[in-house]
Amino acid sequence: MPLTSLILDGFKSFADKTEIQFTNGITGIVGPNGSGKSNITEAIRWVMGEGSAKSLRGRSMKDVIFAGSEFRKPLNRAEVTMVFDNRQRELDLPADRVTIARRILQSGDNEYLINGKQVRLRDVRALFMDSGLSQNSLAIISQGRVDQILNSQPKERRGIIEEAAGVLHFKQQKQQAQAQ
Ligand code: ATP
Ligand code: MG
Repeated sequence: MPLTSLILDGFKSFADKTEIQFTNGITGIVGPNGSGKSNITEAIRWVMGEGSAKSLRGRSMKDVIFAGSEFRKPLNRAEVTMVFDNRQRELDLPADRVTIARRILQSGDNEYLINGKQVRLRDVRALFMDSGLSQNSLAIISQGRVDQILNSQPKERRGIIEEAAGVLHFKQQKQQAQAQ
């Protein structure tokens, strides 16, 4: 289920509406310290339903809204949209193009939209349930987590790799079968 683009509008350092397009293969995002690379991965976690402001390096969820800079006034809303190519129907929706959006206002009001239609957070979660992109998946590994993986014991590290490769599930099934 290819992610074709990510649109940030008023999210953290992205005051201007910015679209990042992902083509086939691997995309690398490079830039100087503080240029917003981590903000991009945080935007992806946020639109998929991240509920912890702290894990997005903020105190309150409203801290994701562009807070102003030397040259620009603060904004009063933030919006992030993910666009998926769903021609293979990996997301359970009868549409070739699926957009998932989240919006927050300065008042704290927060909403989710799937293909432009307002939905609940649980609808967004349900859509990603079997895609390997759920909230605690290893699809997104933060800077801190990299150190944790490098410093882990071999057995623990193997477990992380097995989980990422999707073999843990089969290993558990094998153990169950052997126990019978
Ligand atoms: P590094 O290479 O050090 O990891 P990075 O490219 O990952 O850097 P980020 O951490 O994504 O950089 O970006 C941090 C920048 O985003 C800081 O300059 C910070 O001021 C800015 N920023 C974060 N939240 C907001 C906000 N709500 N409004 C405006 N700017 C923000
Ligand atoms: Mg960073």
